[in-house]
Amino acid sequence: MLTGIHAIIFDLDGTLYFSDGLAQEVNLAACRLIARCRGIEPDAAADLIRNTRNRLSLARGVETSLTSVCSELGVPPRQFHEALTPAVTPESYLTPDERVAALLSSLKKHYELFVYTNNNRTLSSRIISALGLSGLFNGVVTIEDSWRPKPDRSALRALLSAIGRLPEECLFVGDRFDIDLRLPAEMGSAVMLISSVDDLFRLELPARGKT
Ligand SMILES: [Mg+2]
Repeated sequence: MLTGIHAIIFDLDGTLYFSDGLAQEVNLAACRLIARCRGIEPDAAADLIRNTRNRLSLARGVETSLTSVCSELGVPPRQFHEALTPAVTPESYLTPDERVAALLSSLKKHYELFVYTNNNRTLSSRIISALGLSGLFNGVVTIEDSWRPKPDRSALRALLSAIGRLPEECLFVGDRFDIDLRLPAEMGSAVMLISSVDDLFRLELPARGKT
């Protein structure tokens, strides 16, 4: 499976960790922001976000990210993330994950490891630190590198260029196929869809076999 792979590129939220509490805090921050911008109640903003996400997903035939939903509702990614950063406290929900740290340390012996996330630089860094994963990645690519949320072909090309790898040399790992994996797969990368953090450990055996 990993023959010819030199880099593994992980999504962050919902992939390297899962936290209902943190996800809810992000959604709440989005609802409050949309409510403030539109002059409506947070409950109405929650309905608006949900309905907009459903409408866009149906029209595009793929799942839509929260960043893209907020853009559609008139809040560009930069403004969304400026509001998100002070409203979210990853450290309240996350603790170091020694199993994931050990897995990544083992993979790091054989592959370059990257994070590619729609989250912003500050929160990504705090999340990675809270999980005890600092220092394990060759690079962390956030929304701030392009201000173009995944899935985005030009941002993906820029990422591959920045890490100096061809699509077929990369394995992308994520929890949402449409957002994390569909474009990389179309471009020729290997992809791995996970539905829980435990699924990450499917990477263990190929890593050991690749010495
Ligand atoms: Mg995710």
